Amino acid sequence: MPTFKSPRGTRDLLPPETATWTRLERLAADLAIRYGYRRIETPMFESADVFERGVGEITDIVEKELFRLAPRTEESGAWALRPEPTAGIVRAYIQHGMQTWPQPVRLTETGPMFRYDRPQAGRYRQFWQWDIEAIGDAGPAIDAEIVELGMRFYRDAGLVGVEVLLNSIGDPACRPAYVEELTDYYRGHLDGLPELERVRLERNVLRLLDSKDPAMAALNAAAPKITDRLCEACAGHFAEVRAHLDALGVPYRLEPGLVRGLDYYTRTAFEFYVTGREGQQQAIGGGGRYDGLVELLGGRPTPGIGFGIGLDRLILALAETGVEPVPEAGTVAVVVGADPGDTAGRLRVATELRAAGIAARADLGQRKLGKQLEAAARDHAHFAVILGDELAAGEVGLRDLPAGTQKLVAVADLAREIERAHGAHRHGAGAGAGPD
Ligand code: AMP
Repeated sequence: MPTFKSPRGTRDLLPPETATWTRLERLAADLAIRYGYRRIETPMFESADVFERGVGEITDIVEKELFRLAPRTEESGAWALRPEPTAGIVRAYIQHGMQTWPQPVRLTETGPMFRYDRPQAGRYRQFWQWDIEAIGDAGPAIDAEIVELGMRFYRDAGLVGVEVLLNSIGDPACRPAYVEELTDYYRGHLDGLPELERVRLERNVLRLLDSKDPAMAALNAAAPKITDRLCEACAGHFAEVRAHLDALGVPYRLEPGLVRGLDYYTRTAFEFYVTGREGQQQAIGGGGRYDGLVELLGGRPTPGIGFGIGLDRLILALAETGVEPVPEAGTVAVVVGADPGDTAGRLRVATELRAAGIAARADLGQRKLGKQLEAAARDHAHFAVILGDELAAGEVGLRDLPAGTQKLVAVADLAREIERAHGAHRHGAGAGAGPD
């Protein structure tokens, strides 16, 4: 048993699995650029107030799952690790006067989030999200654009069978009356409520709607639906969101029980699922509109919408649906030599190859040529560059390891020759799958 292990609910991401992470992060970054979202980096911890206000005090995320940091000095105040990125991004939007930028401000951030949750499959205490936020546009067209972007990400990632569940949860004009009606409804069925739900009933009744307790299923199915109680403005907005999704050809499923439990959400709410896995904790992404949040955190009233897509669960879903992991981009050339002591010579040639953009390493062990070649083959390198007597005449051996062929190449032409032969190999029959 090792003395130290990664903390419960966290894990080390190791090669070769990290190649898939790199691919997804690149895909997310490319899509963000294509859709006009610019990168923002906010701190991994904030004043806990940002989350208490921005996420809502009566939510699991804040009540039970917030990673609070023990204060070290007077100055540190009450800090917490970010459980989600939106509150921090909105805090930055206000702090840096982004209201004066052209609206909407489209921002993207990818990184680890922290929730002190009970760990289980697909639920970690540190997990990664790709986040998209558009602040300063009341929609409805941008709502559809954002949902479509999420769907495109899953599709480009290779995940099939992803479905969007869509709802509108109203706004301060229509939600209070609905909340009251819902509270009355559940109070009328108090006997049928599990203990936990009775407590929630008095604190955040909307949460009962997405309760995973089987005892709640029938009661929830018969509960009044927010979509039947929307004010005219919210109903119109919701109809337009759907019309825009239809125009884009993005299929969705209406789910009136989807409330997402966060205080600040208004109107559009959505979650991404792999069809047939809508069970507990299996959303692979989610988002919604938060028209009240900027004001709640001290800014001028400003609408906003965004999503957070969990990369950990996406990777699990890819594996479960049989998508092959991405092979690592390995070493293309290994520089070996007949003189075990000439590490400087091998290093110099490898350095030149790397300067020319080739993934090359030198064998830096002081061992016989045969051993160096064995190690190069074990690395699945395409080429061994062999330094021998011909070096005096400015030439080296270039061995194509899988093909078993070898020729002499002028050092001056080496990088070009490797580039050409490696490119031809990659684009030739049967190859092309590797990202290298
Ligand atoms: P939420 O803000 O809770 O809707 O989370 C957005 C997305 O982040 C979810 O759909 C998941 O994909 C992912 N996620 C949330 N919590 C966790 C967790 N504890 N472990 C792994 N992924 C998570």
